[in-house]
Amino acid sequence: MSAGYDLHSHSIASDGTLAPAELVRRAHATGVGCLALTDHDTLAGLAEGRAEAQRLGLGWVDGVEISVSWNQRTLHLVGLGIDPEHAELRQGLADLCAFRSWRAEEIGRRLKRDAGIADAFVGAASHAKGELVGRTHFAHFLVQIGRAKGVREVFKHFLVSGKPGHVPGDWASLEQAIGWIKAAGGQAVLAHPARYKLTRSKLRGLLGQFKELGGAGLEVVSGSHSLDDCQTMAHHARDFVLLASAGSDYHGPESPWLELGRLPPLPSICRPIWQDW
Ligand code: AMP
Ligand code: MN
Ligand code: MN
Ligand code: MN
Repeated sequence: MSAGYDLHSHSIASDGTLAPAELVRRAHATGVGCLALTDHDTLAGLAEGRAEAQRLGLGWVDGVEISVSWNQRTLHLVGLGIDPEHAELRQGLADLCAFRSWRAEEIGRRLKRDAGIADAFVGAASHAKGELVGRTHFAHFLVQIGRAKGVREVFKHFLVSGKPGHVPGDWASLEQAIGWIKAAGGQAVLAHPARYKLTRSKLRGLLGQFKELGGAGLEVVSGSHSLDDCQTMAHHARDFVLLASAGSDYHGPESPWLELGRLPPLPSICRPIWQDW
């Protein structure tokens, strides 16, 4: 049964809209049995979430979602079961957050220069309740000032390659991210693999490298996958001897189509990543 596991979620420590404790209460109320909090490049929400999970008797996994640059693209790795005190992991994430801080100001400068939008950095920061200012916060600000109807539209017109507010990523390498996760005692999972729009052969090239470098799992079931994607990824996981993970990628109640824990079961050919927990 995978119904109880939701191993990918966000809080206000990155670009989610619920505080870690609120997220945990919502997971508990919707019937999740075991939750991983996996904020982008930060561990700042884990202590609060873990304490609330312990209070409620909800299964809990310390996690993180690490931004990776690979072949001119950005990929996301989820680290599950990491030790949040591990020095090498903490240093690696601190470097990524330093890049994020610079990038956020640079997005603000470029939106002013190339789209005539003033004070976007300050506006985005006002939507961030944690320390990290990400593209989602810019999206919320641009919707607020009426430059777009919704978050998706902002990404399409302002925040992706070729658009005024795009700043190319300079994230961790695949090797570094897997190394930090493993050093911190965790399992590295390639997040939402269908989102990268890789050809079958490029995806299989990536999975070969990922496995070779010590990657443990593939997010077969994801809030952003179709049922077809789940089946395809289940076969890739089997071929590369990767464990299968499942996560909603929940960011808050504003995205009701991605409710916590409302995930299809893992296809039966999969070996769940939680099999040995
Ligand atoms: P960042 O890590 O700051 O570059 O932001 C990446 C985040 O932006 C993702 O984790 C999603 O939450 C969000 N995101 C990316 N693309 C889109 C999109 N097309 N529509 C809505 N949200 C998106
Ligand atoms: Mn996000
Ligand atoms: Mn992601
Ligand atoms: Mn995510």
